[in-house]
Parts: sequence; structure tokens; C-alpha cells
Amino acid sequence: MDQTLYIYNSLARVKQPFKPIHDGHVGMYVCGPTVYGDAHLGHARPAITFDILFRYLRHLGYKVRYVRNITDVGHLEHDADSGEDKIAKKARLGQLEPMEVVQFYLNRYHKDMEALNVLPPSIEPHASGHIIEQIEYVKKILDAGYAYESCGSVYFDVEKYNRDHNYGKLSGRNIEDLQNTTRSLDGQQEKRNPLDFALWKKAAPEHIMHWPSPWSEGFPGWHLECSTMGEKYLGETFDIHGGGMDLMFPHHECEIAQSVAAQGHEAVKYWMHNNMITIAGKKMGKSYNNFITLEQFFDGSHPLLTQPYSPMVIRFFILQAQYRPTVDFSNEALQASEKALQKMIDIYRRLQTLKPADKSSAEVPDFMAQCYEAMNDDLNTPMVIAILFEAGKIVNSATDGNITLSSEDIERLRKLFDTMLIELLGIKTGAEENATDLKPFEGAVNLLLDIRKNAKEQKDWTTSDLIRDKLAALGFDVKDTKSGFEWSLK
Ligand code: ZN
Repeated sequence: MDQTLYIYNSLARVKQPFKPIHDGHVGMYVCGPTVYGDAHLGHARPAITFDILFRYLRHLGYKVRYVRNITDVGHLEHDADSGEDKIAKKARLGQLEPMEVVQFYLNRYHKDMEALNVLPPSIEPHASGHIIEQIEYVKKILDAGYAYESCGSVYFDVEKYNRDHNYGKLSGRNIEDLQNTTRSLDGQQEKRNPLDFALWKKAAPEHIMHWPSPWSEGFPGWHLECSTMGEKYLGETFDIHGGGMDLMFPHHECEIAQSVAAQGHEAVKYWMHNNMITIAGKKMGKSYNNFITLEQFFDGSHPLLTQPYSPMVIRFFILQAQYRPTVDFSNEALQASEKALQKMIDIYRRLQTLKPADKSSAEVPDFMAQCYEAMNDDLNTPMVIAILFEAGKIVNSATDGNITLSSEDIERLRKLFDTMLIELLGIKTGAEENATDLKPFEGAVNLLLDIRKNAKEQKDWTTSDLIRDKLAALGFDVKDTKSGFEWSLK
């Protein structure tokens, strides 16, 4: 662990060196998906951003417990038409059990994440599986005097909290401004103040997902599940809490208020937020009709797409930007990523077949140290990619026979790409599956091409053409190079 990772802490508003609370261990909580629909591009960015962090922390030698929750109840973003919970509504329409809907979308979410090569978290707790813990958490906040019961629901008293603490410290808002801009919404008359948020909500009779509690048959408020499950699995204080920028207010702001109210202190040391992906400069949203699901990217079926894009292209596209600026999606941008990724994979493949010389005829800089420096600078993945392309120039020169490389230098380059491209950026080159099974196959093709090379040297054109034509018919693309040959499967 001789690397020092600097991360931007949204709460302190500066980059800070990462120091875990408990030596060698990292607790990390990231707000996961609300499973009432297919995952879209907006889900891919936080998943990939915190996947990079998870991979890097583990690479540095930390034992990481990564918790990513599943929001399957109590999401307060009700359907505008009926005010019903979205999962409950979908269930009623299809005559399905609510948990059947949750499982259906969760399976699809997992499939998308696997395609994007996002590693599964250590724990993936469901909000619906932690109702008892959430009720206990509400009781703690009530006992501390920062919540009140009203008509069977329990609300957090934002004004009272703000008198003792600072509501809005994460997002930089203040309560006066918020009060002036908060509209009157449903349930308003039950609240003392429009800013107060629900900790427990009494369920309407038609609401099918509800649980008994001391206050009513109802369901927990959305913000509560993260405070509760974070404490349950990571302790009263833990290292990192992440999520999309759109969750900073009110969700994360409310989480801070809940932990301070219930525990007497904050829970999180470093808050990290990835920025949003826009589409042609616009936020993704129902009103713009520009929600593109990941499935639609993979099969190219959305009208805004001119072609399908593989999951690795989506991953590479996201990693070509650092996680804090916004990224604008366009077909042109994704096509550029597709080309760049192919170039990178070609470099990786050439590197595997490079033949060493006695010594290197060119200096190979310490690219590994440069990459670590970039990773340590708040996960600067675009810089890592740029450094790998620099290293790729050397690989290409050696393949073309313009320079020679010693076996030590080839080993260093292989280690660089294996560590940075494969392990940390999580790019799949297509050669990983059954890589060991492929060795004899590759050996056989190389043997045939060696025979062809000998035949050419002896001007035995019949044999050399026969091998070339038969391999081409089988789908091999063979190129002659200065140092011999290069082949790939078309
Ligand atoms: Zn959350």
C-alpha cells in the first residue's frame, strides 16, 4: 500500500488523501438501483465509477466491504397519476407479486452489470428485507426529538434539526432558500414544514406493500434505508459513501441528518459523487423521451441510436472521462470510443505475440508509475488510457520491426496492460474466455504460418498461397510484417 489515493470529498469540497478508519479495511456504501424498470445509461456511470474505486482499493491491498442497496419499497417518487408506489403499481397492472417484479428487474440489472464487467458488491441488501431495522432507526430519531408523528406517518423535523446542526451542508443549500422554493405537495397538511421528509408513511388502503409498525400499517421513507443498512453492515462510522450527483440533494442530505439525529454524529468520512450523463446536452428524463436502456444500447434498438454498441464500448466511453464532469452522449462520441477501444485491444493482442530481442533499442519509460499517479489523482481514468496509448506506440513500433524490445521490457509492458487495462479498468479484450484452452489453437496457427514463412523464403509459392488461402477461408486475417506475420480472427 505504498500508493496514496486522493479522492474528492464532496462534503469537504477538496481532494483528500484516503485514510481508512480501520487499518487495512474499507467500508464503502453506494446507493444502488430502484428496481422498477430496466437499467439505462444513467445507471451505468455510478456502477462503473464505484467499480473502478472498488477494484483499485482491493488492488492496493485493502479488504473492502462494498455495500450496494436495492431500493424495492418506499420510494417516495410516486407515480404522478395515482400517487402509488411504482413497484406496487406495476405489480397490480400485471397481476404479479411485488417481489416478482423486483426479482424480474433485478435479474436484468445483474445481467447488464455483468455485461459491463462491473464486479458484484460484497452485500446487496434489499430495503424490503430491513423493515425491522428501519423501524428501530425511526424510534431512535423520535427519541432524540428530531421527528414527530402525524396521522400515522412519522416526519423528520428539518427546522428543529437545523437549529442544532446544519441541514444543507453537503449540497451547500440553506434552509431559508429551500423554504422559499419548496412547492406544496401531497401530504403537506400532515407536515409542520414543507421541508420535512417522511421516515415512515402510512399506507393508503390500495397500497399493497406495507408492514406493521408502532405508528401505522405503512412503509419506510426512501432516505431511511441507506442510513439503516449503512449502519447495519458498515458500522456507525464508515469510510466512503457514493452515488450519483442527483442523489446529493435531498437524498444524501437527509441521510446525514438522519445519522446525526439517531447516532449523535455523522456516519460517513468521504462522500463521493459521479456526475451525470446528458444526451445531446439534455438531462435524461421522461419529458425529453431520451431514456435509452442498456439493453437498447447493446442491440441498437432505440431510435436515437444509429447502431448497436457493445457493453465494453459503453464502459470504455464512460472511462474516457473522469467521473466528476458531466459527459454528453452522442452516436459520434460512442463511435469514437468504439474505434479507440479496438485500437487498445489490438495493442493488447500484439503485446501477447511480441518476440523478445537481446536488448531494447529504445527506452521504455516507467508507464506503470505514471498510471498509478493518474489513478491516485481521484481516479483519473482518461489519463490512464492516454498513458496506455503512449505505451501502445512502443508496442506497435516493435511489432512493425522498427525497434526491438528485451524480454524484461516486454514483461514490464505486459504487466502494465494486465494491471491497468484488464484488472483496474476492467476492459475485456475477448481473449479472456478459455484463454488457456486457446493456447494449443494459437500454437497450431503460428506453426502453420511458420511453415508458410519458410515456404516463402524457399520461393515455394504453391505451399505459401495454399496456407494463406485456406486460413482466409476459415476466417483468419493474415498480415505480413517486417518481423514475420500477424494474424487475427475476422
Ligand atoms: Zn441511498
